[in-house]
Amino acid sequence: MRILNTIRELAQSQPETLAYISPNVEITYSELWRQSDQVADFLLNQNLQKQSPILVYGHMEASMLVSFLGSVKSGHPYIPVDTSIPSERVINIINSARLELVINCSGQEMDIDTSSISVVTLEDILLGQALENQVDPKNWVESQDNFYIIYTSGSTGNPKGVQISAANLESFVDWMTADFPINGPFRFLNQAPYSFDLSVMDLYPALVSGGTLFSITKEMIARPKLLFEALNNSKTQIWTSTPSFVQMCLMDPSFNEELLPDLCVFLFCGEILPIGICRQLFDRFPKAKIFNTYGPTEATVAVTSIEVTAEMLDSYPYLPIGKPKEDTQILFLDENSNEVSPGENGEMVIVGPSVSKGYLGQPELTERAFSQYHGHLAYRTGDAGYQNQEGLIFYKGRIDFQIKLHGYRMELEEIEFHIAKSKFVKAAAVIPVFQNEKIDYLEAVIIPDHHEFEKEYQLTGAIKKELGEFLPAYMIPRKFSYHKELPITANGKLDRKTIKDMVRT
Ligand code: AMP
Repeated sequence: MRILNTIRELAQSQPETLAYISPNVEITYSELWRQSDQVADFLLNQNLQKQSPILVYGHMEASMLVSFLGSVKSGHPYIPVDTSIPSERVINIINSARLELVINCSGQEMDIDTSSISVVTLEDILLGQALENQVDPKNWVESQDNFYIIYTSGSTGNPKGVQISAANLESFVDWMTADFPINGPFRFLNQAPYSFDLSVMDLYPALVSGGTLFSITKEMIARPKLLFEALNNSKTQIWTSTPSFVQMCLMDPSFNEELLPDLCVFLFCGEILPIGICRQLFDRFPKAKIFNTYGPTEATVAVTSIEVTAEMLDSYPYLPIGKPKEDTQILFLDENSNEVSPGENGEMVIVGPSVSKGYLGQPELTERAFSQYHGHLAYRTGDAGYQNQEGLIFYKGRIDFQIKLHGYRMELEEIEFHIAKSKFVKAAAVIPVFQNEKIDYLEAVIIPDHHEFEKEYQLTGAIKKELGEFLPAYMIPRKFSYHKELPITANGKLDRKTIKDMVRT
């Protein structure tokens, strides 16, 4: 496994270089290697089913990184789960992935019944006897074996586990280090939680190039003063985030070259990159390059890219997402799965070596979205787009109910499913409310069931409380409105178009 081999070499050639800086802990390449070997050795002695996934639970701790590498060095993929994921969802992941072991890096007890699985901490593992030899690379995950599994929103109310193999990840990391100006040991900002695949955009490119990750926690993000202090100390050179996160930073005029004097590259992915954001960034960081990249978790983080130039901002009404990486092809298909004529809109289908083998334990869902195309795996993205004459691809939005809000991917049907389960709700629809062509927030439009609350805000509070047990906070609609009935189309489905108009007025 080339990624692990490279990190091993770096642990020997630059043992004291910091691999990771998180609020309270720093870890060098040699310690990262040594501790992850110890985790691997521990896992190899646990009698686990071959290749059974290890859930790594926490939030930006250095021990999460150690646990990720320890898992794959013992032949087990890891499932990163951030502490912001509600307990019910964690239980759902544990059951659906048939997990046997959790490494809890959060520093707190997990708020779930863990009687059916083993839960260990990194401290427990490191207390064991020190290893004399390194773990034999023949135990490492290889090629088509799963390297990690990331859970994303699913329309049946259950999240889907996207399986990413060692070969998928290698294809992605090779591209990042070849096609982007990441040709030295840079300082990377590590902002996205590990349960979101955007985090992989900084994690492995940093570790294979001998760089250092500087992590930002959700506590910092919630307190701008702390965030800006951390950014100022971070020496960040390579910035990875969603456009929404940088937009939040741009609200503060001190987010500029003075705060981050070393910043030379912005990498964006996960949602539409608005021209206005790029203008402000060029203005405040005149020396930095900006890249727009596009891709779903199912094709390993990103598969297209383009360096945004100042000229581009004046030439296009919205920015292109660029061209596919060299080993990848994007097809544009109509409703009958025929390729559309060049320049026409179609559903984007990604074909290439970074496409996942599918959803863990969900053959039907996998079959619906994944197929073979000329010997390569292909993934139907559900995204609409077209390619212009120069081969640049433009993203034209979703063709289904999956949306992006502040960089988080979610399926509206999953939110509706959980709202509809509430004892206070008869029927519900969740509608994205747009501002400047971007989703600003979600509104839940509800026919309430019998309840004893005097005021609507009390009812909303009660429904939100129930939702909090199943959904992460970012998926809970900001606004709730109550109605006697909801419009229905001729074929009996909720008439979302009319509901949307109700919401707008
Ligand atoms: P996720 O799996 O969370 O990374 O979400 C993938 C989805 O995010 C894609 O299918 C697109 O709908 C959207 N997306 C990702 N990158 C971009 C981009 N650069 N521009 C517009 N939408 C994007």
